[in-house]
Amino acid sequence: MVGDFLTELRKVLGTTLSRALTIARTETLRGHREATRASYQANSDIVRGWVWHSAADERTCAACWAMHGTFHTLDERLDDHPNGRCAMVPKTKTWAEIGKQYGIDLSDVPDTNSEIEPGVLLFDKLPAEKQIGILGPAKWAAWKDDQFTLSDLVGQTESTIWGTYRYEKSLEQVLGEEKAKGYTRLALMGAARNAGQYSVSDLIRAVGFGLRELSNDELQKIVEKVAKAGFNREHTSLVKPEMAGLVWKGKPLEVGERLPADEWHFVKHVLARQEWPEGTSLDEYLESLRTVIRSPENGIMISKYQCVYWQIAFIADSGQWRGVGGSDFILVEYRDGYGFWVTGFQPVDLQKQLQVHRSEIRWLRKMK
Ligand SMILES: [Zn+2]
Repeated sequence: MVGDFLTELRKVLGTTLSRALTIARTETLRGHREATRASYQANSDIVRGWVWHSAADERTCAACWAMHGTFHTLDERLDDHPNGRCAMVPKTKTWAEIGKQYGIDLSDVPDTNSEIEPGVLLFDKLPAEKQIGILGPAKWAAWKDDQFTLSDLVGQTESTIWGTYRYEKSLEQVLGEEKAKGYTRLALMGAARNAGQYSVSDLIRAVGFGLRELSNDELQKIVEKVAKAGFNREHTSLVKPEMAGLVWKGKPLEVGERLPADEWHFVKHVLARQEWPEGTSLDEYLESLRTVIRSPENGIMISKYQCVYWQIAFIADSGQWRGVGGSDFILVEYRDGYGFWVTGFQPVDLQKQLQVHRSEIRWLRKMK
């Protein structure tokens, strides 16, 4: 009982003490800053405004990193959050401007204001581990993914105790609940990166979001899953005009007829466009695509297709599989979430094929 009481007492006193210190510290700083600003105002013939200066270190929050280097007029208060460590650096008028006020030409005198590089640029240059340390892995992943800029994290709010103050917005505030959850999930995964039990989907997203690179074992896991996936035979597509009239399974195809995905791609690329050698069977076509996926020499690229689908492309030399209508390369593409190949053909313009409608392009293995 007495022990419990002492524990409680210590807790209460501890909290009160740290709160008192925060208030004392913050109010002292505020008094100091306001006095400083008053002196700037009194010298407004020389001082044009002030520049937000944060410590720009690993203990600096993202909001203060974003504010670092921003210009403010003399009627603005430096309203960083409680316990903030930011300071104002006066921005003086140029010598030319000052001279003009007194009717003297001082335009030859160089500007003596110190250059403060914007925090957003400084932050960009930090090594990834430091950025992650400041933002936390979920926010960092979302920031890396261009979901928002550092400045978007700066919030401003009003408190009865502190007046207005800046704070760092949560991921949820910036991205909405759903996306924030997704990134948090990724982050948790990243934090446990050695557990070795991630699904192929998780791996694709982790790479897609730029959270980390894959080990050889993980890459192999993806290769095997994709090689086995094949086309979705449950999905059918309409026969196109260029495929009409070709004999498939003993009868000529008609426009408007439907074929399962594997047959559809075979008829289009092997029979109609003759990208594979004459006489290539459906099985041989599918086998050639699997060979491309498993080739140790292939290129493997993850990208976001049409802003929605994560896809992995496997590219290898067409070699013996090149037909009269073919090209140097075979491209097979797998769509995550869907779980099947979405195409397998010999693109005439590979570079274009790998860029159009894509973002977040990341090579897991560059083509040899
Ligand atoms: Zn801060």
